[in-house]
Amino acid sequence: MSDSQGSAGSAGTATTIDALLQESRRFPPPPAFAAAANVRDPSIYQRAHDDPEGFWAEAANRLDWYQRWDKVLEWNAPWAKWFVGGQLNASYNCVDRHVATWRRNKAAIIWEGEPGDTRTLTYRDLWREVNRFAAVLQDLGVRKGDVVAFYMPMIPELAIGLLACARIGAPHTVIFGGFSAEALRDRINDSKSKLCVTADGGWRRGSVVPLKDTTDAAVAECPTIEHVLVVQRVGPDVRQVNMQAGRDVWLHEGVEQVLRRTPHPIVAPEHLDSEHPLYIMYTSGTTGKPKGQLHTTGGYLVGTSLTHDWIFDLKDDDVYWCTADIGWVTGHSYIVYGPLANGASVVMYEGAPDFPDKDRFWALIEKYGVTILYTAPTSIRTFMRWGTEYPERHDLSTLRLLGTVGEPINPEAWMWYQQYIGGGRCPIVDTWWQTETGMIMITPLPGIVATKPGSATRPFPGIEPDILDEQGNSVPANTGGNLVIKRPWPAMSRTIFGDPDRYVQTYWAKYPGLYLTGDGARRDDDGYYWLLGRVDDVVNVSGHRLGTMEVESALVSHPAVAEAAVIGASDPITGQAIVAFVTPRGGQQPNDALTADLKEHVVRSIGALARPKRIYYTAELPKTRSAKIMRRLLRDIAEGRVLGDTTTLLDPTIVAQIKEQYASSEG
Ligand code: ATP
Ligand code: MG
Repeated sequence: MSDSQGSAGSAGTATTIDALLQESRRFPPPPAFAAAANVRDPSIYQRAHDDPEGFWAEAANRLDWYQRWDKVLEWNAPWAKWFVGGQLNASYNCVDRHVATWRRNKAAIIWEGEPGDTRTLTYRDLWREVNRFAAVLQDLGVRKGDVVAFYMPMIPELAIGLLACARIGAPHTVIFGGFSAEALRDRINDSKSKLCVTADGGWRRGSVVPLKDTTDAAVAECPTIEHVLVVQRVGPDVRQVNMQAGRDVWLHEGVEQVLRRTPHPIVAPEHLDSEHPLYIMYTSGTTGKPKGQLHTTGGYLVGTSLTHDWIFDLKDDDVYWCTADIGWVTGHSYIVYGPLANGASVVMYEGAPDFPDKDRFWALIEKYGVTILYTAPTSIRTFMRWGTEYPERHDLSTLRLLGTVGEPINPEAWMWYQQYIGGGRCPIVDTWWQTETGMIMITPLPGIVATKPGSATRPFPGIEPDILDEQGNSVPANTGGNLVIKRPWPAMSRTIFGDPDRYVQTYWAKYPGLYLTGDGARRDDDGYYWLLGRVDDVVNVSGHRLGTMEVESALVSHPAVAEAAVIGASDPITGQAIVAFVTPRGGQQPNDALTADLKEHVVRSIGALARPKRIYYTAELPKTRSAKIMRRLLRDIAEGRVLGDTTTLLDPTIVAQIKEQYASSEG
């Protein structure tokens, strides 16, 4: 994203006094937090750097292995094998081994449905349910190596089902419950799933999401599907579903059949090779056609368990809540595998944050005494837009650590989160990672790393990123470039399922032997990483390269702006011109005076170069179903192209509205 001359340092050039001030705004770990933190010795960074394989081998001792590995890493770039020769089972590590300790009656999953119904499963309960589910899978002919698709609401059966699959060595692929029938069909077909697990519905903003109907539409065109296993979530009084004889089976009926054979079914966990496939997860599709990332067992579980423990500073009495959906990698790594491998108590919530009112998250935190909250910048910006009255209704004093993931967090939102949710006392871990990386890669360790609002700070111990120019040279401080990872890490995706060539082309071809993240970043003088957004989103104005993130951040720091997306549209004079799409905060009327003021505001905070040429107002921005802004669609609109893949879009009508507005203003 930054070539060697003119633009070198451009991200730096664009860094203004304001941004520098922000960079020097440091939040050292609060002393009491630091004194009790799980990681207190900064020398861990150096030790991991000097002997990464030794570091990961030590981490692997956190898990229970049936057979110890012979070799920590086998690396034939880009093909990695971790803990070669080792055997283990992820379900055993997340469930059985805790049942053998005092944790058997500790809450594993504290679940709340959107209507307010609740369920708490202890580790012992979880173990019982996982065994039953696994027995049902076996009855339906699922064997080691068969792929099982999940299209589910956020209910305990989703986590139980994944662990049941892991138990018998059947890789799972979870398709987010907000996806359409076509998106579901394509992922089932791509992954060649044999069984699809769904529910009669799930609650969302007071209505029932008709998951089974959508599944029926999808699997009609999925030749590999033999059975559909249906969880009764809402019940026949709320929604009747169609059950196709011979194909569809109710989970509770499957369990009854198992229990008729034996009242306490036990399915012994398979002894699986460390590299046995654990799951396939499709990326969000922010930049293009989703890629099915294949994650395997041993390295993945080591990476997620260690990062979860260290980054979230997990203690046995913590109540941990990651608000992501299990349909995304964040839910896999930091609701299911990492936390459960660590014996954590995990909160899980089915519904929307604004149902029945906009204080639902804060009500849940108060109700369950949540101590660790992990959420997304897009949610934080939404909460900011709703106003502080909602968190102020509740006692949030149990919180001791906050996290963010999914997008760069603008300093404005960071400060709001710190102040209004964290009460000024909680460290914030801004965690950078990807579906491909499987685990958090750049993040503070909250007991030893001072944070700076907007920076993901330092690589996790044992992770070695770099920032390169187009020629592959490491760029100097304060210069933007391509973020790469130089060494393999245990939770890395092993391939794109069914398409190894695309895996090589996408991630390993530009700089052979180095993993290309697709994100732009720069390092400051302290070696802190600042993520600049996707490389594809960088704007080139008169030869100067600007990260869209920087301009968006400047816009959002204006009191009238709730959210902003910035793109570069081709311009005959400057090459590209900055075009901004802005969602005003509640009560703000867009008009020419505001437009002029916003342009000046950007100039003041970044420089004249960054002045938006045009600003459009929109009530919503186009987002993926994982709530990330899809700038490529805005670019398509701005340049009059046919829209690229829109199947992962949350609300297609938004695009139509923006398109119309754009066309009328152009004319
Ligand atoms: P696709 O790869 O299909 O375009 P996607 O990249 O949105 O989709 P994910 O793997 O869910 O799919 O998202 C990873 C991306 O999210 C990262 O590459 C980065 O752009 C962004 N991201 C995640 N966490 C952070 C963070 N803490 N700071 C900055 N960016 C982040
Ligand atoms: Mg990506």
